[in-house]
Amino acid sequence: MTAPAELDALRAKVCDFIEQHAIPREDPALAHDVGRLDAAVAELRAIARAAGIYAPHLPVEIGGLGLDWQQRAAILEEAGRSFLGAPALNCAPPDQPNMVNLLRHGTPAQREAYLMPLVRGELRSCFAMTEPAPGAGSDPAMLRTTATRVPGRGGAPGKWVIDGHKWFISGAVGAAFAIVLARTGDGATLFLVDTGNPGYRLLRNIPGMDGYQVGGHGEILLERCEVGDGAVLGEPGQGFAYAQARLEPARLSHCMRFIGRAARAMEIAQDYALRRESFGQRLADLQQVQAMVADSHIDLHASRLLVQDCARRMDAGQSVKHESAMAKIFVSEAVWRVADRAVQILGALGISDDTPVSMIQRELRPFRIYDGASELHRATLARRIFTQGLRP
Ligand SMILES: Cc1cc2nc3c(=O)[nH]c(=O)nc-3n(C[C@H](O)[C@H](O)[C@H](O)COP(=O)(O)OP(=O)(O)OC[C@H]3O[C@@H](n4cnc5c(N)ncnc54)[C@H](O)[C@@H]3O)c2cc1C
Repeated sequence: MTAPAELDALRAKVCDFIEQHAIPREDPALAHDVGRLDAAVAELRAIARAAGIYAPHLPVEIGGLGLDWQQRAAILEEAGRSFLGAPALNCAPPDQPNMVNLLRHGTPAQREAYLMPLVRGELRSCFAMTEPAPGAGSDPAMLRTTATRVPGRGGAPGKWVIDGHKWFISGAVGAAFAIVLARTGDGATLFLVDTGNPGYRLLRNIPGMDGYQVGGHGEILLERCEVGDGAVLGEPGQGFAYAQARLEPARLSHCMRFIGRAARAMEIAQDYALRRESFGQRLADLQQVQAMVADSHIDLHASRLLVQDCARRMDAGQSVKHESAMAKIFVSEAVWRVADRAVQILGALGISDDTPVSMIQRELRPFRIYDGASELHRATLARRIFTQGLRP
């Protein structure tokens, strides 16, 4: 897709889909109910496919729309207005970055067995890196999950034995496979582990703030979990590098979707401010409310510009280590501020489930923690600024 008019038409189609199909299916009762959420997403995917808006991030050859990053920014923002939008278009994490991992590093057999069913929406997946203390969290080097290679005897093929404990693994409930990061010798390796493997156990779905995560957030135990050499994703020993490489585009995609979500919260608050009166004036006529609305527009505009700048650089094949960290910090904090102001403008209604605003705010809060906490990104940025002598 090259012409701006084509992108405008696609954006209009996605907008229509979100308004006509996704938003009407939102229901606070779906949140935290993995089965009902899966069923709603499956229904929406059929409609999205028929509308020609499915899988915007994937190459055309495997059934996607082949959009570049700048085009994706527009479409993901539109889809992100609804909790159900990105899953419906099959461009939501963890499946979205997992597809990227498989596209980049998968063997033909792995693509056939794992990537293509994911693309078709026949199954779900998860990505298992984080561990409870004292394991890997903000610092992946603290990884304690191990994978040990056991050579085969008498001509039998060798195998890997994985042992570890993971948590906050998004999408784990109902996932058909996990991409697991495990320590192998001095480095780490990614493994494709079927969740039906007898050594793989889902301990629980961790109750949390963001109820619309498809497949919840799982805690997982890997106990003498045996997989063959065919389960290694990419080169052994490259797991940390692969995990890092997936994070940059993943966090940018999150920014795109969440700008849409925060914009929707502010639209609802603005509508309320135009209707609701207090002391003989509309809320929209009160300067303190006006300031909250104006500041939110500034936050959203600045967020879009940061994301568009990253997208343009990525389309040009440039590294965006520095810029994507700045975008992640700013956008994750800005969308939170916007949602928080929306709650404030709505008063008591804002904290209820009568509007989607309170759920939007709950969903945006964790974004300041995952894909690198704000503090970590600030520390990395400052280190680079001082060591490279970057001018402000
Ligand atoms: C909603 C959600 C979904 C997630 N999904 C997944 C998933 O699918 N797969 C997966 O593997 N993981 C997932 N995670 C886990 C996520 O990657 C981790 O929460 C994150 O890496 C931080 O690790 P931690 O929670 O152990 O925090 P810790 O490492 O314990 O850090 C706690 C806090 O300490 C501060 N801090 C830590 N280190 C530093 C530092 N060097 N400098 C300054 N401050 C610091 C930060 O404020 C940080 O928030 C998810 C988390 C959430 C909340």
